[in-house]
Amino acid sequence: KIFGVKLFNLQTRMSRLDMTEDQRRSDYLLNAEQACDIAIEYGFDPVVDDEASFDIYPDPDTADGKVHPLRPPVVTIMGHVDHGKTTLLDSLRHTSVAAGEAGGITQHIGAFSVPLSSLLPSGSVANSSSPTTITFLDTPGHAAFTAMRARGASVTDIVVLVVAADDGVMPQTREVLELVKSEGDKVGLVVAINKCDKPGVDFEKVKSALGAEGIHLEEDGGDTPSVKVSGLAKIGLDDLVETLSTLAEIRDLRARREGKAEGYVLESRVDRGRGNVATVLVTRGILRTGSSIVAGQTWCRVRQMQDDKGKPLKEALPGTPVSITGWKELPSAGDELLEALKGEDEAKKAINNRKRDEERKRLMADVEQINIKRKEERMRLEAEAAALEALELGESPTEQMEMKREEEKKFLRLVIKADVSGTVEAVVGSLEHIGNKEAGVKVVHTGVGEVVESDVSLAEASDATIIGFNVPASRSIQTTAKSSNVPLHLESVIYRLIDTVRSKVAGLLPPKI
Ligand code: GDP
Repeated sequence: KIFGVKLFNLQTRMSRLDMTEDQRRSDYLLNAEQACDIAIEYGFDPVVDDEASFDIYPDPDTADGKVHPLRPPVVTIMGHVDHGKTTLLDSLRHTSVAAGEAGGITQHIGAFSVPLSSLLPSGSVANSSSPTTITFLDTPGHAAFTAMRARGASVTDIVVLVVAADDGVMPQTREVLELVKSEGDKVGLVVAINKCDKPGVDFEKVKSALGAEGIHLEEDGGDTPSVKVSGLAKIGLDDLVETLSTLAEIRDLRARREGKAEGYVLESRVDRGRGNVATVLVTRGILRTGSSIVAGQTWCRVRQMQDDKGKPLKEALPGTPVSITGWKELPSAGDELLEALKGEDEAKKAINNRKRDEERKRLMADVEQINIKRKEERMRLEAEAAALEALELGESPTEQMEMKREEEKKFLRLVIKADVSGTVEAVVGSLEHIGNKEAGVKVVHTGVGEVVESDVSLAEASDATIIGFNVPASRSIQTTAKSSNVPLHLESVIYRLIDTVRSKVAGLLPPKI
């Protein structure tokens, strides 16, 4: 469809992307973000197919019908505060160390690998389609998880929802369930009913509370796997790991090892001895020492790699968390990592381009702000002059009339939520100009992520309509909105949204007689 667009328009648009004149003239492989940018600009609703990008790097294995090698599942433990996440993670981490894995000292690098052999009786992982290790993310407050999700990427394959048996379903338990639901098939769920060592805990009560949230456990004929554990007393950890391994096997998690390494930054910090250090999770390809990588606004020639036990590594396979030194500046959690196959120069160039683009965006925003301020100032001066003139002439100030006209202009106030920040901007850009002198759109708030309670309160207070673009709104939020008389509109196709908003704005106008 983009081909049908006048080349002139397309080129103008592309000149805003990070491209040299030569790239623009010749065939150029757009990355997903650039392609989305253009598609959104032209009113399309792009869907990024991550899997399809494998085809760019043909895997010699796949040519004769074989598939990419298995990779470890990436697991995030979530749940209500004090339900035992930290304790459970610590127990899991220690079992892998206690099992005699090299190094022996656990390092908190934001993620760790547990070899299945350390937890399961020998023989039970003989199956060649089971993973051999499980990668657990333990980033504080799940910063990386949230940051990556906000950018539309998620590295987590399975969420373990920890529910304390003595406390049951709590607000953050529900939040996790909403989050998992909104990820659709991309993320699997295992419920870990924790603190089962406590005397007198009522499992049935916990189960029925989960049932009320639409979660029915496998052991009761539902489809959500669950385990009873105690992180503190180290009960049921083997069960948990076995359940994760089975789920991983069903999901058949694989990644290519050829082509450039890709991944995500989980954590970063300045280490007194090692300098800038970042933990990264390799998602595709093999990351090697000596290679050049870029992430966010910085790059790194990989000087040293260590696993979570502090063991030096030369290579990191997909699904492996490693801490890396050699960063010029610290990258941020959630930054996507890409290998620059042509080395240091390519990495430097890419970062310069990114920085320039960032700078340009900042400048454009500044200029916009200045223009708005100027316009406001001019209007104020004009109104003052008109009022003065009117006073001198002894007439009633026309300023009052001007102000009244502006006041009488009807606005459709909007609270806009969308899945990623690029989309938020695109949606605002498409809607804010709708209207005429008498009625228009006023965006009162924007944000990334699903529609939440505070959006409804804000919309209620400001008499606004909520627009959720490509994001869900839980049933409870929909009910709240309804009872607060806040219109809530969910949409995922931009032109349909534009039509809806147009007709709503038109509805604000007095009927023409
Ligand atoms: P988090 O906030 O979810 O990370 O919870 P913590 O792991 O910090 O645990 C909160 C409290 O519950 C601590 O006092 C733990 O000792 C206790 N706790 C955690 N797991 C268990 C468990 O399996 N059994 C019992 N009895 N207490 C636990």
